[in-house]
Amino acid sequence: MTTILRASNLTKFYNNKLALNNFSLEVKEGEVLGILGPNGSGKTTLLKIIAGLHQKSSGDITICGEEPGLKTKGFVSFLPDVNFLYKWMKIKDAKDFYKDFFDDFNEKTFLELLDFMNLNPSQKVVDLSKGMKEKLNLALTLARDAKLYVLDEPIGGVDPVARDQILNSIIDKAFEKKTIIITTQLVRDIEAVFDKVVFISEGNTILSGNAEELRSEKKMSIEEIFKDLYRGEL
Ligand code: ADP
Repeated sequence: MTTILRASNLTKFYNNKLALNNFSLEVKEGEVLGILGPNGSGKTTLLKIIAGLHQKSSGDITICGEEPGLKTKGFVSFLPDVNFLYKWMKIKDAKDFYKDFFDDFNEKTFLELLDFMNLNPSQKVVDLSKGMKEKLNLALTLARDAKLYVLDEPIGGVDPVARDQILNSIIDKAFEKKTIIITTQLVRDIEAVFDKVVFISEGNTILSGNAEELRSEKKMSIEEIFKDLYRGEL
């Protein structure tokens, strides 16, 4: 299988604060990888370096053989953990904005995803609930024909019923054959889609592996392993 992402000994300091500490990772084509850890463990920092939004302090990272930068932004689709749409926009304006910005934006996929999420192109962004905005952002991100999708805390604000619906239908459909890195605190809701998981603490891996193998080895769900590893920290 082709390697999509390779990182070795990645380290990131914000002034004197160590956020990533000699972190290494390999992601192969078609894998869905969960990066799990409590707040402050370095998940967003890692994702922002992958997305080309933050500079590493040291170490190596390549995505499809390229260091993160302008070129990789063309094939890495990043869902940030903050809202990035303008209030004046309707959903269809957000679509056009994305279409102008990203050559790999697939309008057909986007409209299919919107439909699954029960969103309507003429709805105004300002009228959407937090959960609906998250669904829209996820649809925009997944509608690119990218080589790697990087999702920081997707659908945290979506209510549990809608979350189930998204995970059962859209994500399964949209995730087919895609290479995806996801961070989440909602381990129970999302664990079914993970092929591999990496548990991090203070910027380094404390446990990683194939999700199915970890479950059978530890006789626990990924959520139970998560709770066990970070007891007292969550
Ligand atoms: P997570 O996503 O797991 O919550 P982050 O990557 O956001 O973790 O943060 C890792 C550490 O780096 C935390 O201690 C956080 O306070 C610190 N940090 C993150 N961003 C900045 C920043 N822009 N300036 C200073 N410290 C930061």
